[in-house]
Amino acid sequence: MKILVINAGSSSLKYQLLDMDDESVIAKGNCDRIGIGGHIKHTTFDGKKIDEDADFPTHTEAFEKLVEVLTTGDAAVISSMDEISAVGHRVVQGAELFNKTTLATDDVIQKIDDLSELAPVHNHPHALALRACRKVISESTPQVVVFDTAFHQTMPEKAFMYGFPYECYEKYHVRKYGFHGTSHRFVSQALADAMGKDIKDLKIVSCHLGNGSSITAVEHGKSIDTSMGFTPLDGVLMGTRCGAVDASAVTYLEKKLGLDPNAMSDYMNKKSGLLGVSGVSNDHRDVLEAAQAGNERAALADSMLQYEVKKYIGSYAAAMNGLDAVLFTGGIGENSDDFRAGVCHDMEYLGIKFDDNANKGVRGKLTKISAPDSKVEVWIVPTNEELLIARDTKALVEAMK
Ligand code: AMP
Repeated sequence: MKILVINAGSSSLKYQLLDMDDESVIAKGNCDRIGIGGHIKHTTFDGKKIDEDADFPTHTEAFEKLVEVLTTGDAAVISSMDEISAVGHRVVQGAELFNKTTLATDDVIQKIDDLSELAPVHNHPHALALRACRKVISESTPQVVVFDTAFHQTMPEKAFMYGFPYECYEKYHVRKYGFHGTSHRFVSQALADAMGKDIKDLKIVSCHLGNGSSITAVEHGKSIDTSMGFTPLDGVLMGTRCGAVDASAVTYLEKKLGLDPNAMSDYMNKKSGLLGVSGVSNDHRDVLEAAQAGNERAALADSMLQYEVKKYIGSYAAAMNGLDAVLFTGGIGENSDDFRAGVCHDMEYLGIKFDDNANKGVRGKLTKISAPDSKVEVWIVPTNEELLIARDTKALVEAMK
């Protein structure tokens, strides 16, 4: 069974075509610059490449191009779109309406669009892409939506409520939703498999650390708390996002800097975080390089992030009344040995005995990095959100038969 996975943004359409018989990637790429020009980058499993300008006034033309490169020319990998059994779409915000992977009916697509107020950057483009996909790819090919928020819908009220007056939740749906759910679900299950344990018997802290970062407490396979909140701005310091701050600092800075709410939102989402503190870059590698060259603010930004991650691990161990494993994933979590060591050192009191030799130099590989006699296991678990979307899509279409 072949599944096409789509991750649509306002000006881009990332895609992967997977063969679910062996879960291999047949082709992948990105249609970029939608609405402002157009460019496609396409790579096939056997190394054929397309890298060319195109004309993408809307997502519809991007889908038409995608169909063209998949089915015709030198880099074609299928002879007709009929070979694709279903399309799985990543959707960022499902709020309380969607707690699981769902078939994208007209009503579901409209609801995704209606949730745009909660996720303006993401949900409307997702709805545009879903509608464009419907136009270009046959109606008989099911489209499925996998929500970033769905995994976190198991959080108890005491974890997802904020201390605002209750009506803010009732009237405006202001609560913690959490994000990166597809990744946390994938890696926590992969960790349980690697440990040879049933996920229902485990208490895991999953640290997804990349350009955007979130930490999730996964108790017996369910998210019971997570660091991102109403939006992906909450939690730890990120590439350009400030993470959790005292809300009063926001209103104070609005006044001091003369910023309106939109400009303040930009300030917190695009100018803060590693970039804002270090003054060097939003990219963790650049920040580390600068820190090693003696830049004190870069060293500070890195140590702030390490410290915040460490605190989340401790607090989630408390929330779960125990801890069996900690996992690192995402660009920083999978690749930076110094970062992982910085977080996990001096946590013996919690049962973490880190193995520096096992950790050293490991990048993007499923690896145990705690000592054999560590009470709490620590692992690097590479994430693969596209694969989970494809697995969910396959399961849903098979259940429909
Ligand atoms: P992601 O958003 O998951 O793609 O992660 C991107 C982040 O991972 C960027 O900040 C990168 O600098 C960081 N990253 C990737 N490789 C490394 C590395 N070897 N050391 C430190 N950070 C890395």
